Amino acid sequence: ETHEKRDFIRQIVREDLAAGKHAAIKTRFPPEPNGYLHIGHAKSICLNFGIAGEFAGVCNLRFDDTNPAKEDPEYVAAIQDDVRWLGFTWNELRHASDYFDAYYLAAEKLIRDGKAYVCDLSAEEVRAYRGTLTEPGRPSPWRDRSVDENLDLFRRMRAGEFPDGARTVRAKIDMASGNINLRDPALYRIKHVEHQNTGNAWPIYPMYDFAHALGDSIEGITHSLCTLEFEDHRPLYDWCVDNVDFAHDDALTAPLVERGLPREAAKPRQIEFSRLNINYTVMSKRKLMALVTEQLVDGWEDPRMPTLQGLRRRGYTPAAMRLFAERVGISKQNSMIDFSVLEGALREDLDSAAARRMAVVDPVKLVLTNLPEGHAETLTFSNHPKDDAFGTREVPFARELWIEREDFAEVPPKGWKRLVPGGEVRLRGAGIIRCDEVIKDADGTITELRGWLDPESRPGMEGANRKVKGTIHWVSAVHAVPAEIRLYDRLFSVPNPDDESEGKTYRDYLNPESRRTVTGYVEPAAATAAPEQSFQFERTGYFVADRRDHTAAAPVFNRSVTLRDTWSA
Ligand code: ATP
Ligand code: MG
Ligand code: MG
Repeated sequence: ETHEKRDFIRQIVREDLAAGKHAAIKTRFPPEPNGYLHIGHAKSICLNFGIAGEFAGVCNLRFDDTNPAKEDPEYVAAIQDDVRWLGFTWNELRHASDYFDAYYLAAEKLIRDGKAYVCDLSAEEVRAYRGTLTEPGRPSPWRDRSVDENLDLFRRMRAGEFPDGARTVRAKIDMASGNINLRDPALYRIKHVEHQNTGNAWPIYPMYDFAHALGDSIEGITHSLCTLEFEDHRPLYDWCVDNVDFAHDDALTAPLVERGLPREAAKPRQIEFSRLNINYTVMSKRKLMALVTEQLVDGWEDPRMPTLQGLRRRGYTPAAMRLFAERVGISKQNSMIDFSVLEGALREDLDSAAARRMAVVDPVKLVLTNLPEGHAETLTFSNHPKDDAFGTREVPFARELWIEREDFAEVPPKGWKRLVPGGEVRLRGAGIIRCDEVIKDADGTITELRGWLDPESRPGMEGANRKVKGTIHWVSAVHAVPAEIRLYDRLFSVPNPDDESEGKTYRDYLNPESRRTVTGYVEPAAATAAPEQSFQFERTGYFVADRRDHTAAAPVFNRSVTLRDTWSA
């Protein structure tokens, strides 16, 4: 069942295992700790950890920390938190920087083998020499340096003798290659920058492609899954794996083995899949970073952000995220996923996973005049209409209630099923009421409704079964707890906020209605929720007790998603 053919990558894995190519499979999730993870990363996490789990393999978490200027331990910690939250357990936690010594030796080996050289061209010159898609590149004037000179210069680079950008180590591959990535790509650059893991130990840093291919080799990754934009890099990936050849080189692996890292025989294979794109959002780390630094949102975990921290705070559940990843699937075709698919996954999970409660978001008072002053009683409600395992709770009912302002209309539109002057409506689980009087202030705003509770319509009575058009929710005014309710919506009001035509940027497309904060009332059994507990507030939507700000005395609820899709209708 779990081994059924789901996508082309699982098919490859299945075939490799059947052919005995690997005793066990090993994948990795390789984030760069230069920002918080977003929903796109969740797709990659679910794929890498998912496949490892389905095929009895393992998955490493590896921080690809080769670009020290932008990396930070804050991100390293948050990423681990996110992966765990999604429900996955890594085999080993590694950093590319754990292998800096091995990478260094690998580059020396390539130099000794005449496959790499130290180049003194500036970044600008390298670009000019590289050529274009239609025009071959020109060889660097430093391409034919002797091995001894190259080794000497590389060692001096490592010793910190040269300023940033003065030299690079480049692979000697093919300046005429149709694939520009093979036109002597840089393997090492000089950067006198402190590193989040290795401090000031290294003034040179390996380039991503080199480090990534070797990291996979060192860890014995069997299937190295990455997004489509790396398809053109695959020949370089293979070149690095093959020419360094960790699996057959004792001199290279000895220092690693000494540190307790086993020598791995597997030769990793890179396989590309399409990136996740979702409309009504931006996913580039650069833009997410700008939203935070320009204070267009309240930080990385703002509940409107597509970051995993943001989605979590919004009330997205790990199960909903995994369901979403499964629905979106894996393919070679880039596409735009509708935001409603994400919301649909959350609704589906919470419909079965969230207990029901009553809360009034925009309250107006309803006084039941035929109940005695101070009357209060307790009603028993089931917590879930479809699942008895959720049990029941006690809901206080009293003479004075809060109901939703929008559940009353003085002049009802056509088809109205809720309360009108002189009309009847069912109060969820309590009985049938009639509205007798509408009280307004000087401005004409309704301040109170006065009504009559049909004493023959109480729960369990014969009269409770008679037909009335609508059912509305309510809370007891004396018992309900005032709550801060944050009504979130999509952060952007257009499907493609990345559209920069007409000189606009995503900043111009922010949805001004993406957050509204109101004071409502929740029943006592909602107020006592634990932070991060989700509920369906009946007829209103799915809400979560805010992870940071909610307390029983001062409840704070975030709207995770409405009950129905109001965007595409
Ligand atoms: P940026 O270029 O903005 O830094 P990135 O994609 O390089 O983002 P990484 O931290 O390097 O970010 O990504 C870690 C892993 O997550 C990579 O394997 C990458 O392919 C994958 N990933 C990132 N974004 C997406 C996405 N939108 N859909 C699927 N996988 C993604
Ligand atoms: Mg990156
Ligand atoms: Mg990356």
